[in-house]
Amino acid sequence: MSKPVNAFQMAQQQFDHVADLLGLNEDVAQMLRWPMREFRFQIPVRLDNGHIRTFFGYRVQHNDARGPAKGGIRFHPSETIDTIRALSMWMTWKTAVADIPLGGAKGGVAVDPATLSRGELERLCRGWVDQIWRNIGPRIDVPAPDVGTTPQMMGWMMDEYSKLVGEYTPGVITGKPVGGGGSLGRAEATGFGVVYNIREAMKHLGLDPSQTVAAIQGFGNVAQNAAIGFIEILGGKVACVSYWDRDDKRAYTVSHPDGIDPHFLKSITDQYGTIDKAKAQAAGYVLEDANAWIAKDVDVLIPAALEGQVNEETVRLISDRVKILAEGANGPTTPEADAVLQERGIFVIPDFLCNAGGVTVSYFESVQNDMNFYWTREEVLERLDKKMTQAFQAVLQMTLDEEVYTRDAAYMVAIDRVVKAMEMRGWI
Ligand code: NAD
Repeated sequence: MSKPVNAFQMAQQQFDHVADLLGLNEDVAQMLRWPMREFRFQIPVRLDNGHIRTFFGYRVQHNDARGPAKGGIRFHPSETIDTIRALSMWMTWKTAVADIPLGGAKGGVAVDPATLSRGELERLCRGWVDQIWRNIGPRIDVPAPDVGTTPQMMGWMMDEYSKLVGEYTPGVITGKPVGGGGSLGRAEATGFGVVYNIREAMKHLGLDPSQTVAAIQGFGNVAQNAAIGFIEILGGKVACVSYWDRDDKRAYTVSHPDGIDPHFLKSITDQYGTIDKAKAQAAGYVLEDANAWIAKDVDVLIPAALEGQVNEETVRLISDRVKILAEGANGPTTPEADAVLQERGIFVIPDFLCNAGGVTVSYFESVQNDMNFYWTREEVLERLDKKMTQAFQAVLQMTLDEEVYTRDAAYMVAIDRVVKAMEMRGWI
């Protein structure tokens, strides 16, 4: 068994390494190693059976030198202050590398949302806002969806905030439903952003996308859209996806000998990314082990589930054919696995670059909310593609100029931008 991963230690370790490479002033490094502000609070929720259950909620604001803090809210049973800290820190680097004028934050609740009724979920969402509304806002900190949260939940949270401040405030939260202040293209933004990054990496490596095959871990928002984009934008094939089965309390890889059809699989997947395995098997899909996805004979691996999935143990399963590891998830690769990937010369598109499409369209959503004027899906995706391509090229340039690992290069680009903003504001 591999060691359990503390995501925050991992995020700090990655940061310390690049702070060293950059020769960053020790006092400045100390400021950036920790979040600026952390909130932890109780959310009492009246359940349908009349009992009150108390949940623990979090909001962590890592850095807001470049603009209002920004980051998703996760509803997951194993949520801790340390995962939220790590994710908030990665958000700072993500907004910086994507070059959007925002900082980094993250929030969450330790809960399995699938165990709550719709009414209980709505009360939990409103309860989260009731506890933190004074510390969020369009010019302070703007939350968004993440694992276990949906556009509908963002709609409830926006409504609760608007009631508390006394005016309609769509810009307090992004990832809202379209028609309720949401942006077209937001749902597919992260997955398509992953695919635009892969396209640029393939250009650099001289690969023909239409001849490539990918294996994906996860089948939630990011994975579904990465699968659709890989097939429909790049013309490639997807061998498998994987998912967490709540009934069996284990993960499965779901593959098809001719390549998966993501639209079909999506039609038999619930809103939390759990596939109906009986229906999949009836349609000729094969159910394999949790780790089968990473061992597939493919060109591209896309971890798009949770952190720590490419680790000391699973990295050894990666086939020689793999050229690109595109990190759709946040923090999917542990430092031990990173060393192996680097040694093997696999081209890693680091998480906070690879999955920056979501926050980029979240930013577009805020811009549209401010203007009260909405763009077409094509306009959104075109702007997204441009932003992702520029971000990828900046990181590639740094990789080549400094002869460093892509992850280090992405950190170097991001940290440099954040430190410059801190300097300009006179913080350092
Ligand atoms: P989601 O809740 O929609 O989907 C998560 C998927 O992972 C589900 O299919 C679930 O069954 C699967 N899963 C969970 N544990 C697993 C395991 N052990 N093995 C295999 N599959 C497992 O979440 P999402 O929004 O797609 O986010 C996925 C990752 O991408 C997370 O790391 C998240 O932080 C990151 N991310 C999401 C966004 C976004 O816009 N949604 C943006 C940037 C990064």
